[in-house]
Amino acid sequence: MASRYIGRFAPSPTGPLHFGSLVSALASYLDAKQHSGSWLVRIEDVDGTRCKSQYIEQILTTLNSYQLLSDESPIKQSDFTQEYQDHLNLLKQQDQIFPCNCTRQSLQAYQGRHPHICQSNELSPHSWRLKSSNVIYRYHDAIQGELIFQDDLKDNCPVLKRKDGYFSYQLAVVVDDHRQEISHLVRGADLIETTAQQLHLYALLDWEAPKISHIPLVVNQAGNKISKQNHAKAIQDGDLSTLLIALSYLGIEINASNITEALNKAIPLWNKEILRGRSTITLADQHLHLIQ
Ligand SMILES: [Zn+2]
Repeated sequence: MASRYIGRFAPSPTGPLHFGSLVSALASYLDAKQHSGSWLVRIEDVDGTRCKSQYIEQILTTLNSYQLLSDESPIKQSDFTQEYQDHLNLLKQQDQIFPCNCTRQSLQAYQGRHPHICQSNELSPHSWRLKSSNVIYRYHDAIQGELIFQDDLKDNCPVLKRKDGYFSYQLAVVVDDHRQEISHLVRGADLIETTAQQLHLYALLDWEAPKISHIPLVVNQAGNKISKQNHAKAIQDGDLSTLLIALSYLGIEINASNITEALNKAIPLWNKEILRGRSTITLADQHLHLIQ
């Protein structure tokens, strides 16, 4: 583990950046810069069926327009598939994964989880799943407080490599964060549910996990995440007022005449305590134009 602070923002190029992703990018950026750390941008294009290359350029252009500049050249997950395979092989040698050709229908009776026993073998097309575990993870999140993951790994058997050959987010994100020596993750509270699986992979690979904090998720008035799936519109590039509104959702109320000034003022004001214990923040009426 690196002794210095290295943070990151890792968007998926499944669409342009929306307001919710700007809030997440800012939180990880401000935390890194307040700690005099590096901040890296990584393109999470591991799911080749959903990601589109045109969005990579668009996302980087938008980040640049808000002066959210990666301290190293952004990398793409699709360049690291051999490395994901090597780590999958390592987990296989440790007998931590199993082949599975269960279908979505056959798992319906288990609410999307996977029963402890699988009759599949490697002879037919199969995914690779992580074995069930009874390990309980306790975690101190600097924003959400004490998190206890009791049954998260029991019969949950996440897919690490899909039947179609693509690696899962869970495996790729752990391998990437380790390779890039990411020391701190600041990300949306929607990812809390993935944390136990990631902590488990860190433990199995004998790596130290980064410190993880989950910021409240900005939700629409129906309580849903602002996402590409619910058609959140793209944010305008380099728009000072959008930036100031995004900062206000992180508890930072400032005036500034340009983006540089706004970021410089925001870095010392970033304070996780203001967000403490909150898992969502509802988008105010006057800001609905940012997503619709
Ligand atoms: Zn199965």
